[in-house]
Amino acid sequence: MEKEQQVSMEKLISLCKRRGFVFSGSEIYGGLANAWDFGPLGVALKNNIKQLWWRFFVESRDDMYGLDAALLINRKVWQASGHEATFSDPLVECKKCHSRFRADELLEKYFKENPQVVHESISADLLKLDRDVKSFNISCPSCGVTDWGVPKQFNLMLKTFLGPVEDDANMVYFRPETAQAMFVDFKHILNTFSPKLPFGIAQIGKAFRNEITPGNFIFRTREFEQMEIEYFIKKDNWQEQFEGWLSEMKKWMAFIGLPEDRIHYLEVPDGERAHYSQRTVDIEFDFPFGKKELYGLAYRGNFDLQSHQDASGQSMEYFDEETKEKFIPHVIEPSLGVERTVLALLTGAYREDEQNGEVRAYLDLNMQVAPYKAAVFPLLANKPDLVTKAQEVRKAIQGAGMTFLPVAFDKGGNIGKRYRKQDEIGTPYCFTVDFQTLEDDTITVRERNSATQERIKVSEARKFIEEKMRGDL
Ligand code: ATP
Repeated sequence: MEKEQQVSMEKLISLCKRRGFVFSGSEIYGGLANAWDFGPLGVALKNNIKQLWWRFFVESRDDMYGLDAALLINRKVWQASGHEATFSDPLVECKKCHSRFRADELLEKYFKENPQVVHESISADLLKLDRDVKSFNISCPSCGVTDWGVPKQFNLMLKTFLGPVEDDANMVYFRPETAQAMFVDFKHILNTFSPKLPFGIAQIGKAFRNEITPGNFIFRTREFEQMEIEYFIKKDNWQEQFEGWLSEMKKWMAFIGLPEDRIHYLEVPDGERAHYSQRTVDIEFDFPFGKKELYGLAYRGNFDLQSHQDASGQSMEYFDEETKEKFIPHVIEPSLGVERTVLALLTGAYREDEQNGEVRAYLDLNMQVAPYKAAVFPLLANKPDLVTKAQEVRKAIQGAGMTFLPVAFDKGGNIGKRYRKQDEIGTPYCFTVDFQTLEDDTITVRERNSATQERIKVSEARKFIEEKMRGDL
């Protein structure tokens, strides 16, 4: 398979299940719509992404402050931020079968399937959506009938109740984004660390949205993780800061090994941006189901801090010691989804080629993100000397403490099958301990993509992996 070809979602989902990346949630009870559980390799991949992101955007910079805020947040926050009133999608219901869809998505799909149709850009206005869904005679994807109700706004926040009484006073929302807590805690960071502008607050954590049409595997779910930054700046140089963040996001995507030719940058046009945003770029990726948003980058002005100042009565001002001015900083927001990163990495890395007359599938993941950096096998499972030696080699490559590297160990089945398994989970190198190893302390190392082998000294195996990891930085 050529690099440019896309893996089908069926193949990818099957690999994810078979190899322990992602399972369907609650499966023994018939599942729960669009809920997915990450198995051992999925957790490893997600953890690698999150740790690399934290190192790349937080730890390696002097202008970033980490946060891990509570998931349940005072309702007043969501009232002030505008989420309670406006965090919604346009829902339209088929009068015949009562299936519900996003009106904008119905139109998007229709225009994509009918490129000859002349149309205006898809509006967020309910009246215009109603007019378009009806005038283009769009039929219901579930029952095929064309009989729609009037679109209405459907709020995406999930609710629950704190304490034993289920009334309005005890109702809270699960946060639909990690961002707001970083505005709410802005003053804490100012007071404890006295940072100078520009500086950022960063957070990784779960977010919940009652999506009307979740789907496409882990692409759109109701529970997901975000990696977000609120980068506070002076208003005057927002354009320069925006460009700087776009370039940081490009570096990040190259760093984790996302294929550049599948990444696209969409300047969100005037009518489609939030009213307070002067520039938003959606970073899109060619997924097997089409070009879709992977990440977002938005200039949000000072809307959020100003809204919280107005609603809470607490000052969100920053004092500039040089100019002796007090003002509310502006903000640039790079927003990244963890699961969409996993999906982009898996679809971008999936390859097939032919080995010994058979089709072989492998994941071309780089050393940084691969769940295992290497695997060690004894050539034969029933030779205790080989097994003991292989365990020693594994320990030596793993190292310990802060320098520990995850290394798989497999002694089951024939060696070809063991290679195949590691190829499918993206393990870059496999070391095999054979009889020669016992004689001269050398070992074969097989590279995943080329399937070529070389012999190196056992004492150099750890260094070999460390150098490959450095090469991927
Ligand atoms: P979309 O247009 O796809 O609904 P969005 O513009 O609403 O996304 P943002 O609010 O900007 O998304 O959220 C920031 C990031 O969080 C997205 O770029 C994406 O990576 C991730 N994300 C948002 N919604 C979901 C979801 N339902 N499932 C998985 N990831 C999501």
